[in-house]
Amino acid sequence: MNFRELAEFFDKIEKTSSRLEMTSILSELLEKASAKDIKKIVFLCQGRLGSNYEKTESGLGEKMVMDAIAKTTGFTRKEIEKEFREKGDLGLVAEAFAEQKKQSALFSKELSVEKVFDNLIKISTREGSGSKEVKLKLMAELFNSASGKESRFIARIPLENLRLGIGDPTILDALAWNLIEEGKQNKEWVKQTEKEMQEKKIKEKEWKEEFERRIKIKLRENIEEKYNIHSDLGSIAEKLKEKGLNGLKEIKIQAGIPIRPTLAERLNSAEEIIKKLGKCAVESKYDGFRLQCHKEGKNVWIYSRQSENMTPMFPDLVKAIQELKAKKVIFEGEAIAFNELTEEFLPFQLTIQRKRKYGIEDKAKEFPLKLFAFDLMMLEEENYMKKPFIERRKKLKEVIGKGKTIELTKSIETNSSEKLDEFFDSSVSKGLEGIIAKDLNAKYIAGARKFAWIKLKRSYKGELTDSVDGVIIGYYKGKGKRTEFGLGALLTGIYSEKDDSFKSIAKIGTGLTEKNLSELEKILKKISSKKKPARVESNLEPDFWVEPKYVIEIRADEITKSPIHLACFKEGKGLALRFPRMISVRSDKKPEQATTEKEIEKMFEGQKTIKEETPD
Ligand code: AMP
Repeated sequence: MNFRELAEFFDKIEKTSSRLEMTSILSELLEKASAKDIKKIVFLCQGRLGSNYEKTESGLGEKMVMDAIAKTTGFTRKEIEKEFREKGDLGLVAEAFAEQKKQSALFSKELSVEKVFDNLIKISTREGSGSKEVKLKLMAELFNSASGKESRFIARIPLENLRLGIGDPTILDALAWNLIEEGKQNKEWVKQTEKEMQEKKIKEKEWKEEFERRIKIKLRENIEEKYNIHSDLGSIAEKLKEKGLNGLKEIKIQAGIPIRPTLAERLNSAEEIIKKLGKCAVESKYDGFRLQCHKEGKNVWIYSRQSENMTPMFPDLVKAIQELKAKKVIFEGEAIAFNELTEEFLPFQLTIQRKRKYGIEDKAKEFPLKLFAFDLMMLEEENYMKKPFIERRKKLKEVIGKGKTIELTKSIETNSSEKLDEFFDSSVSKGLEGIIAKDLNAKYIAGARKFAWIKLKRSYKGELTDSVDGVIIGYYKGKGKRTEFGLGALLTGIYSEKDDSFKSIAKIGTGLTEKNLSELEKILKKISSKKKPARVESNLEPDFWVEPKYVIEIRADEITKSPIHLACFKEGKGLALRFPRMISVRSDKKPEQATTEKEIEKMFEGQKTIKEETPD
């Protein structure tokens, strides 16, 4: 296809504001496209140069596009910049200047879709010294042969803003529409559809239209099912063009190609969840990032929730995945930064620092990740997506075992809302976000939000505004780099006026500088013992107990209920600090002047009144 023709289609799509009309123009375009071009055209419709999971940044900024316009039209950069400021869209600027070119184009040739696509691919893959000039030349070559309308779209593609508003669902619809004749030949669908329509008592005069509508839905569902396991609409369109519906059979789950992730519904209480699911699996909800891990032999791919390839960012995880026994596997999990020493999960703000292009190795050392695996989609040659969750989980356990870097999510099975609530509290008190309940019999529902997964999240608003003054009641030996300080984490308590004791509220490993560590170790050693001091109440056993003497200022994200800590203990649960960080030593305070149980209880209550649901 000539690019001129594609630009005409794009122009029509840009002008319409009706989705139905957009689908109809798109289906005409895809019908006209040859088998050779259709993949490229679908990618261009998505505003990309490759499938959803391929990285195709052009590396071309607005400045370079302006340079290319200047080079081919004879206008100055200043004139182009002025127009850009007014129009705010370099596509329109390129169009306007192309129509009033000051210089006639030498070697101008009709552009094919293939030529434009190839040049843009070359632009996106060129790197290193001299690449800027080459990119500019390739872009100028296109502008040189392009009409005004063509220039509009050529300028927009590398800037990744085609401004057509075509979403993947519209492309799926258009592909389905083009298969209607084949759909109407499918005896099983016809029989099924006719039966459904008779039951609904569809009137004679509406029959034909309704019949086509229902067949289109079936076509669309079949195509989407494949899209969900193979995030590459270009290849799907190509297969459909070559072989019609039969082409879909060739699209299979494959290591290296991301599956669209299943999504969680939300309910507000344990009771509602149990009412909906009955006996279910309940897993801790880790607040990190979701990763889909693929392995085939030594090859490993790691994809984000949006199917971006993140493999280079996580060398530690790649290594752990390579070490799994399975030859071929696709599984999912949540990665979260974890402090081995204090066994603390780190807040999302720290975990997110692992998403980076540079300094990867250093950050991997500073914030090692743990990957909590929660689902299995493929093992060796077998597709697990259609198997019930309980079976997938059992197999996942065999595959993952208990490694240092990868382990299974913590989980229980229950039909009791009290048990679910208890598990929720214990997850939250470990610094986690809540729980996800899972339907034991559900398949893996790719790309959709169904009640197979239901989340229940703690809700909170930001950081605790007040800091807490805690008393050091014990400490843990250092591991790894911290061995040299002899101290790795502190166990702290608050003061109970009622019974003149110190009750545990937080284990803290964060916020301690090397200087703090060695200084604290020196002073704490003097008052340490292997026996719990009389006035201390704690279920946690530190490596050394210390006489309650030193007060430290602590900041935390919030106060949560906890089955582990004993502060404000009531009905089997105490209160704990979530994500505690040491701020300073309060040498001005005596231990009895630390924050009291009463105060903590008040802070906890106050927190409830400002609670707001955090956005997803
Ligand atoms: P949300 O992002 O709030 O809709 O919750 C769903 C997300 O929770 C998933 O996409 C995962 O990234 C994350 N998650 C954390 N722990 C789990 C788990 N045990 N099972 C499934 N998803 C989890």
